[in-house]
Amino acid sequence: MQGVDLHTHSNISDGTYTPELLVQAALEKGIHTLALTDHDSMDGLALAEKIANNQPIQIISGVEISSQWSRPSTNKTYGVHIVALNMQNMQPLQQLLQEQKRIRAQRAIQICQLLEPLIQMDIYPDVVAKVEGEPDRITRTHIAKTLVEKGIVARPQQAFDKYIKEGKKAYVKFDGLGLAETIQVIHESQGFAVLAHPTRYDLSATNVRYLIERFAQHGGDAVELPPAIEPASTRQMVDRMIEQCNLKVSVGSDFHGDNMPWIKLGNIPTLKQGQVGIWESFV
Ligand code: AMP
Ligand code: MN
Ligand code: MN
Ligand code: MN
Repeated sequence: MQGVDLHTHSNISDGTYTPELLVQAALEKGIHTLALTDHDSMDGLALAEKIANNQPIQIISGVEISSQWSRPSTNKTYGVHIVALNMQNMQPLQQLLQEQKRIRAQRAIQICQLLEPLIQMDIYPDVVAKVEGEPDRITRTHIAKTLVEKGIVARPQQAFDKYIKEGKKAYVKFDGLGLAETIQVIHESQGFAVLAHPTRYDLSATNVRYLIERFAQHGGDAVELPPAIEPASTRQMVDRMIEQCNLKVSVGSDFHGDNMPWIKLGNIPTLKQGQVGIWESFV
């Protein structure tokens, strides 16, 4: 499964490479199966497919959907990301993405409004300038970068830690569909639903296990394997849940270009014996 990367971002969302450049970089890395999974948008797909034409690379349709999960016993809601892959009928998913884009654009305004009294500055116009004037592409990464450029913080991570991550004053949750509904729409589009980076939601180990279990119960297809830099115990816990819930696995780097230069395109973890890659189900 070397040569597979099923989680990447372009500048359609918070990556820095254009879809065309991303495909070119993937070809140079020997990647033969690539999914472009921008946040709540498939607008880069046609560009990626066009440049990949007649090249030794297969472009898999993909998108990383902002979803949410409520743990019934506590009723606390967590933002989770569901990667949709290999859709055969774009229409149901595109309809969902239209709504997701509306939520995203609205939320960006809300975040900037909350930031304004805290930093004594209106940054919204600069944020919009980062997404070629298309507010439905704004992510918190763009807001964090703007705060760096304005000298409010030294690094993007500080913008999250001080202002825009969960629990901070300018945090606005992404009020998207729940897990079950998200999975349902992906299946209506005849795609596969992958739980993205299960160990990156600031959940306790118990809650990670519970999330994976619920994801499987709702018909989810695969779970993304944690990157090799994570502790072996974390990987083992995820492996156990995958086996217990009879799920397939997905692999992706979550490449963001120069916005996260430590993440390398095509750098994916190895499957454990017995695990089945979701890409084996692609038509
Ligand atoms: P959004 O979809 O607008 O909430 O933006 C989410 C993106 O922001 C993620 O895909 C990451 O690229 C980035 N991000 C989220 N949380 C953090 C964090 N705590 N530190 C740095 N980047 C983050
Ligand atoms: Mn991102
Ligand atoms: Mn994500
Ligand atoms: Mn991602």
